[in-house]
Amino acid sequence: MTTEHVAARINAWEVAQRQFDLAADRLGLDAGMRLVLREPRRELTVHFPVHMDDGSVAVFAGYRVQHNLGRGPAKGGIRYHQDVSLDEVKALAMWMTWKCAVVGIPYGGGKGGVIVDPKQLSQKELEGLTRRFFTEIEVLVGPEKDIPAPDVNTNSQIMAWMMDTYSMHAGYTVPGVVTGKPISLGGSEGRNEATARGCVYTIVEAARHLGLDLTTARVAVQGFGNAGSIAARLISEEGATVVAVSDSTGGIHDPSGLDIAKVIAWKQEHGTVQGFPGASDVSNAELLEVDCDVLIPAALESQITSRNAANIKARMIAEAANGPTTPDADEILFKNGVFLIPDILCNAGGVTVSYFEWVQDLNRDHWSEVVVNAKLKEIMVKAFAETLDVARRDDVNMRTAAYLLAVKRVADAMELRGLYP
Ligand code: NAD
Repeated sequence: MTTEHVAARINAWEVAQRQFDLAADRLGLDAGMRLVLREPRRELTVHFPVHMDDGSVAVFAGYRVQHNLGRGPAKGGIRYHQDVSLDEVKALAMWMTWKCAVVGIPYGGGKGGVIVDPKQLSQKELEGLTRRFFTEIEVLVGPEKDIPAPDVNTNSQIMAWMMDTYSMHAGYTVPGVVTGKPISLGGSEGRNEATARGCVYTIVEAARHLGLDLTTARVAVQGFGNAGSIAARLISEEGATVVAVSDSTGGIHDPSGLDIAKVIAWKQEHGTVQGFPGASDVSNAELLEVDCDVLIPAALESQITSRNAANIKARMIAEAANGPTTPDADEILFKNGVFLIPDILCNAGGVTVSYFEWVQDLNRDHWSEVVVNAKLKEIMVKAFAETLDVARRDDVNMRTAAYLLAVKRVADAMELRGLYP
């Protein structure tokens, strides 16, 4: 069975709720608070029409979910993928709540998605779908309420269309309604690399903690999009050797190391990493089990499960993706001494620089990349240290530690605000 088949059978929302339950139990969370935090605050489902190039009208389904708004407006990306479901979006929204709390930025959690394979659409159809979807979810979004961003298969051009759509309805330009925009439209320096850069900052901290020399480390990366390809580039700039990478079509492996700049160029030309000269083709399932020191899952949910966790050879897993590891797999990895940097910490660089972008937009300001990266590093290093402290104090894995920190911060905020009315 392929990793995709296994992933399709695992419900991300059940995984997210189980992870929350583990933390709530350990925290001895008040029963009422547990009920509130266990469910999303708002779930919007929309069915919307789009003019197709052949003259027909197609109807698509999409979602925007706000999990919790206790610490600030909702924040979270919008995903375009054929396998998007309401349960997946709910899970991703809940993870955003915890992520923003782990790194201490003043946001709640949200997420959106459209059931579509965007590779099947023309640019005109993609723009039409984006503008109409954003119009439909405008009842929820806004710079003070809910600020979307890119996720799988969405990019800065799509964010530009969303910002323009909202601004046309408002009658003036509202750059703060989405982040991950092009720089010329109020995007932040460093946002495109932020998820991967934050991930690599946490890998550097984890390597120091483990006594692992990154200049001799071998790294495998699953997923070669925004998070994965840039993480591969940045980790090789740290001196590590990237031995395997993959995308949705499969992966490549070269134990002597891949030249990442050349793999990026190859993928641009051929649309896949496979067939890269000098490397052997591997499946996505095989990629996870290659001999390496650091494994970076940077694709979709539920890739590391009870079926393959025991076969993973990496000493460290850095979750650039959201939800790549199931709770059963977590237990196996912890028992086997694999050090895992959980998604809500590891990939929080993306939302952190999204927050910087929003702050710059609201203040009509623009920071240099040096300033952005320095602020990002400070936040990621601090969050890593705080999480590691809890892991050591309570003798728990890094995921549980991050959840203990995050859930407590959110519960404290909710407690202080009180129950309205
Ligand atoms: P992307 O669309 O840029 O890239 C996704 C990559 O994953 C592509 O290379 C695709 O080919 C590959 N992929 C898809 N299905 C796969 C499969 N079954 N096996 C292997 N590879 C597969 O998306 P992205 O923004 O890089 O997001 C990747 C992950 O990182 C997601 O889990 C996302 O939620 C998470 N993430 C992204 C950001 C961000 O700022 N973009 C921030 C935090 C977390």
